[in-house]
Formats: sequence, structure tokens, C-alpha cells
Amino acid sequence: MSKFSQFNFGGKKALVRVDFNVPLNEKFVITDDTRMTAAIPTIKKILQDGGSVILMSHFGRPKDGPTNKYSLIHLVSHLQKLLGDNNEVFFANDCIGEPAQHAASLLEPGDVLLLENLRFHPEEEKGDMNFAEKLSKLGDVYVNDAFGTAHRAHASTAIIADFYDADRKMFGLLMESEVASAERVLLKSEKPFTAIIGGAKVSDKILIIENLLEKATDIIIGGGMAYTFWKAQGKLIGNSLCEEDRLPLALELLEKAKSKGVNIHLPIDSTIADKFAADASTQNCDSSKIPDGWMGLDIGIQARKDFGEVVLRSKTILWNGPMGVFEMEKFQAGTKTIAEAVAEATKHGAFSLVGGGDSVSAVNQFGFNDQVSYVSTGGGAMLEFFEGKVLPGISAIHS
Ligand code: AMP
Repeated sequence: MSKFSQFNFGGKKALVRVDFNVPLNEKFVITDDTRMTAAIPTIKKILQDGGSVILMSHFGRPKDGPTNKYSLIHLVSHLQKLLGDNNEVFFANDCIGEPAQHAASLLEPGDVLLLENLRFHPEEEKGDMNFAEKLSKLGDVYVNDAFGTAHRAHASTAIIADFYDADRKMFGLLMESEVASAERVLLKSEKPFTAIIGGAKVSDKILIIENLLEKATDIIIGGGMAYTFWKAQGKLIGNSLCEEDRLPLALELLEKAKSKGVNIHLPIDSTIADKFAADASTQNCDSSKIPDGWMGLDIGIQARKDFGEVVLRSKTILWNGPMGVFEMEKFQAGTKTIAEAVAEATKHGAFSLVGGGDSVSAVNQFGFNDQVSYVSTGGGAMLEFFEGKVLPGISAIHS
């Protein structure tokens, strides 16, 4: 059993860092509450133990202090709905000072207090010690359940942990499962371990590829970034996406992979288009002979088969980034085929982790989100974890 599950919160005030940075429309209605629902099990466990919960979160990127647009007050009624009538939700219109202290002092077991946006104070993002200390005074126990901000050394995500003894700081349930899934893939992977890396730019994914060269057996490279690798080898890629300044690096990565015995798989063919548009003319073409005026916007028929086979014989799978411009129907097939293969491999016992914004949207869009082992909620944090970086939000709890 985990530290959080074993802990008895009865009579305690738990200060919980959540990621409630949900999208709102112009009428302040929440359009996607995934981040809120993801934190509910942690909140409920504390309440069921007989504890009270003080929630703190950032919300948007306010530049000039308190602004209604970025107030967490817009989330109170929905939070109340998610928790049900047995637990009352209160709101403090500042996360430190009198309003927060007073509201926290009135909390009874079973009550929830949502603090106003942490980022109304610039000290939050600066990782200010005094600000962190003021926050820490509000709760007896610190729980970090905000994996989405674990890569930031902010006051509420990392610095605050210094003000709690080891037995009074811990991950919440969401953070525990995020960390466990990521560690299972990066540190304890069963082989063969296949990393599927896609998306637009090589430059965004260099560090992750370099780090995976130390860990993976196979790396599948799809999406727009594949063409920089083809061009680096002297192939004709037409008007496909290419980062000219990364050509030497692409060659270097291919050579490094060879010397380490890691198989790099590039799409042998592509769906090419005569323009970047949903109504473009398309054809299947060898990825190394794309005519001028045409561009590769998805992996081709043979590549889907090849990549599918690699995925199906894997025991551990990490997927970050789509195989093509999956937002347009004509260029969805590659990403969809990979989603199917990952789901199939998972059914046969592989552990699969999908992380990073666009691949998460893709598995959700194609309806495979419940057929993979884990879908991460933390885009940037997950990426940095797989780049081999130490995440301040994780190390603060461990230290
Ligand atoms: P990223 O944020 O780097 O993971 O990239 C995701 C974006 O890459 C998506 O919006 C895709 O449409 C885009 N993408 C994928 N494949 C290609 C391609 N072959 N050419 C241009 N853009 C692509």
C-alpha cells in the first residue's frame, strides 16, 4: 500500500496541490473537467478519513495580479457538484494572509476549502521561500497531486515541501499513478521496449530520443520529424517538413542508435499531399522519393504494417506524438493504426503509456483511451521525465 493510502487523515487539515487549470468558455463554463475529476479520488479519501481539504492550484497565466478572468471562484460550483452534497466547498479569495488563514481555521472534518489562484502572487512562480512558508502554515499535511506542474520548481509544487517532515508530505493518488507508470516505463521496462515518437519537430524531441537511446530496444519515428531523418541520409523529401539546421544532429542520432544496438524505424512510405489541406490530392509514395511540390503528411501503407509489427512484439510501449496530421481525416490512418496496435499489444500483456498532448488527444479521439495501460495527464512534465530530467515536484517529496 502506498504512503497516501496508508495515511490516516482523520482530524487533519490536508493542504493539497492540484492542477485545476481547466479550460473555460467566455461564460466561465468549464469545457473539459478532466483535470478536476482526476483529483477527486485523492480529495475523497482524505474526507472519508475524517480530514478536511485545502486545495491550491494555479489557473491560467495572470500577468497583473488578481483578475476575475483567472479567478478560481468560477470552479467552486462544479467542484461542489463533483464532491456531492455531503461535503461543503468554501472559497478563500486569497491563497495566503487573513482570508486564507481565517477560512482554514474554520474548517470542520469533511469540509473543502478552495484557495484563490496561486499565480495572483508572482512569488509562486519564482519559488519564493517566504510565500511557500505562508502556504505551508495552512495545512498539517502536504499532498502533491499536480503531476502537470511537477516539472516546475514553484513555491506550491516543490519549495513548500521543505516545511514538512518526511512523514507529513506525500503524493496524492493521481501523482502516485503517474510516477509509477512513468518509472515502470523508463526505469523498469520489460524488453522489448518500443518508444513511438512522432509530431512535428525533431528539435522538440531531441532530448527524449537521446535519453531513450539508453533505454529502448526500438524507436519508431513518425510524423513530420521523420523527414529530417530521411533528408539527412540524402533522400528526396519534396516539400515535407524539414529542419535544415538539425540534419547533422539527425545523422548523429542514427549513428548513436547503431552503435548502441537500438533499432530506429523510419516510415518507408508516406501518404503524400499536394498541399497542406483537408481537401488535398493524396497518394502513397516511397518516403525517399517524394516529388517536389508534394509533402508527406502521414506514414504510408507499408510503414503502418512495419510499425504495427514492431509494436505488437513489444512488452513495454511509450507513445509520444502523432504519426501524421491526424487533425485532418485524410492523414489519420497512420496514427489510428498505431493506436490500434498499441491497444492490441496491451491486450496481450504489454504495458503501454501514452503521454504528451497530441498523442493523448489522438487516443481519446479514436476511442482507445481505455485500451492502453495509462494515459498521462502531464504533457510537459511527462516529456521532461522521459528526457531524463529530475522533476522538482517529485524530488521535493522524495527528499
Ligand atoms: P508535436 O506537438 O510536436 O507532438 O506535434 C503535433 C503536430 O504535428 C500535430 O498537430 C500534427 O498535425 C503535426 N504533424 C504530424 N505529422 C506531420 C507531418 N507529416 N507534417 C506536418 N505536421 C505534422
